[in-house]
Amino acid sequence: MEFPVCIFDLKTGVLCSKCEGKLREGELTQDDIEVMRALLETEKKLPQISSLIYFKSLKTSGFLFIFFLEKSLSSLSPTVLSALQSDLSRRTGLKVKLMEIRKDLSVFLQNLVAPARVLTVNKVWLPDQTIEHRVLLDDERALTVPPTILSEVVKRVMNISVIFDFQRKSRQPFARSVR
Ligand SMILES: [Zn+2]
Repeated sequence: MEFPVCIFDLKTGVLCSKCEGKLREGELTQDDIEVMRALLETEKKLPQISSLIYFKSLKTSGFLFIFFLEKSLSSLSPTVLSALQSDLSRRTGLKVKLMEIRKDLSVFLQNLVAPARVLTVNKVWLPDQTIEHRVLLDDERALTVPPTILSEVVKRVMNISVIFDFQRKSRQPFARSVR
């Protein structure tokens, strides 16, 4: 796999000064280091994932979103993807979501909310001149992650503000148990 730090550093657990600098400047976090080390372990028994290019990870409310560069994740078979996901969930104890960074916002959002579907994306200019994206999804009950967490992920990874709305709302908003 390709990582933004030296493989040697990950293996030894000691970062060289260049990689240490990326951590200090906030380009990478301690979570990234832990996830990359877990991926390195997973790769030993799942060599198919060696084509992946790691981008970053986000840990929030029991979920772990792991982002890879465009086209690397989509080249893997569904069997390999699910093996990767369950291995990482087991190693981290978190609900793992594997994601690909996409330049196209609607493609990125569609992957993020699946199996729910994106119906429309509208840009709204707020009075303070910032832009917010209103994203209409088909069915709230199809979401596997609460919408507030999804909004947080888009903000932190893409630096874009999104608010989700639903054609069909769940009768019990996302308090129910999450898969
Ligand atoms: Zn290094």
